[in-house]
Amino acid sequence: MQLKTELYIDGQWVQGDGTLPVVDPSTGAVIAEVATAGAAECMAAVDAAHKALPAWSKTAPRVRAEILRKAFEIMVAESDHLATLISMENGKVFSDAKGEVAYAAEFFRWFSEEAVRTPGDFRLSPSGDKRILVTHQPIGVSLLITPWNFPAAMATRKIGPALAAGCTMILKPAGETPLTALWIMDIMERAGVPKGVINLVLPSQTGPMISKMLHDPRVRNLSFTGSTQVGQLLIRESADLVLRTSMELGGNAPFVVLDDANIDEAVKGAMLAKMRNGGAACTAANRFFVARTVADEFITKFAAAMGALKVAPGLADGAQLGASVSIKERNKIAELVDASVAAGAEVKLGATTPEGPGAFYPATVLVVEKNNPILSQEVFGPVAPIVIFDTDEEAIELANATEYGLISYVYSEDLARGIRTAEAIESGMVAINRGVISDPAAPFGGYKQSGLGREGGFDGIHEFLEIKYIGVEI
Ligand code: NAP
Repeated sequence: MQLKTELYIDGQWVQGDGTLPVVDPSTGAVIAEVATAGAAECMAAVDAAHKALPAWSKTAPRVRAEILRKAFEIMVAESDHLATLISMENGKVFSDAKGEVAYAAEFFRWFSEEAVRTPGDFRLSPSGDKRILVTHQPIGVSLLITPWNFPAAMATRKIGPALAAGCTMILKPAGETPLTALWIMDIMERAGVPKGVINLVLPSQTGPMISKMLHDPRVRNLSFTGSTQVGQLLIRESADLVLRTSMELGGNAPFVVLDDANIDEAVKGAMLAKMRNGGAACTAANRFFVARTVADEFITKFAAAMGALKVAPGLADGAQLGASVSIKERNKIAELVDASVAAGAEVKLGATTPEGPGAFYPATVLVVEKNNPILSQEVFGPVAPIVIFDTDEEAIELANATEYGLISYVYSEDLARGIRTAEAIESGMVAINRGVISDPAAPFGGYKQSGLGREGGFDGIHEFLEIKYIGVEI
């Protein structure tokens, strides 16, 4: 398989100050050495994005739209190749990787449609003294930072609206998964994105280099997806030059099964909400709250479905649960489970770290008390702690007992009861009787410490636009 391993700056593929190994977490084998960026390369990327901004911001929206549409088409045509890359560097199974590519490509299609629909306003002021004209302008050079868990979709969810809005950008992918992002640069080039409009750097020292870029006054916007901890640090960094920021941060999603739920449907939804991406999703159901009267049935059926998953390297035939992204991430999962068991969790399935190569962890189901420590942590793996509750009020209180507020899941056969529960839960997104609701056409984002701003939907492009009010004497 042909791999792109150099940095992409000002339309050129360039070497940097060293290389970083990319490891296949299923085997531990190094699959590529990717160029890293020092200060010179990071600043060259800022120079290039700054230089490309005047022309790109004035490019007709229709032209930008057509480039995005072309990128969508190329990505769909190359989805097997991209999915293979994702599986190799991230560890997720091929079917999940294919799903990610389809989702990632849709951001290009959606924002190709949004590029030509930026709204404006023209009206008489209430006092009648002037006309109020409201228009939007691209913010400017944007720094996009993405995590390893969705190496394609987290990039396109930012690149799509940034290009549509007329911004230029520097993408910084996660160190574990740069190959997918580099392939996307190649797609952008072939789709006709002019040189300098999009650049990719992989700093050899992430913190200091990102800080340097965030303190360059030519950089106006930071769009970050990753952990709440790093997001908090970057919000502080961004305060110095009062940058626009959008933050898609961690989650600790509750999955609430009310006593009138259809249990077979709830189990199906739980498998999707928990196990898509091997549990390594900000949207992953992490805390299961199940009504006492249906708890036995739910736990039995859910543990059976979890136990039937085939654990294997992502590209192996029939694999349903792949490796975590690294041994370090896998060990974090194991430590959280061990601490949970030490605090009294009852193990219904899994909870043992396998021997041998590869960052594997088995599907795990625990029944825990509501004060078990695992409930207060984001578990980025195939682990489902279940708490039994007695009343809807108690379920809502438990669901809200977290600093996170990204997404929640509610199962009930009574839609009004489902909506009441959804409205009472503090999260930016709620799925009712569904295991997945992410959609490029819908606003994705969190309450509380899960983030600031929204990606996708009609709101996504506004993360890359300034509002300008022009008061006109007529
Ligand atoms: P992470 O450790 O926060 O890293 C995310 C990105 O930030 C990586 O590119 C990383 O680069 C970079 N980074 C790390 N330290 C930095 C620093 N000091 N300054 C600037 N950048 C820095 O997160 P992760 O482990 O990759 O991803 C998992 C997290 O992402 C989970 O918390 C998950 O919930 C969250 N997530 C949220 C969403 C959402 O939409 N809300 C979606 C997906 C994931 P290096 O790789 O070079 O360290």
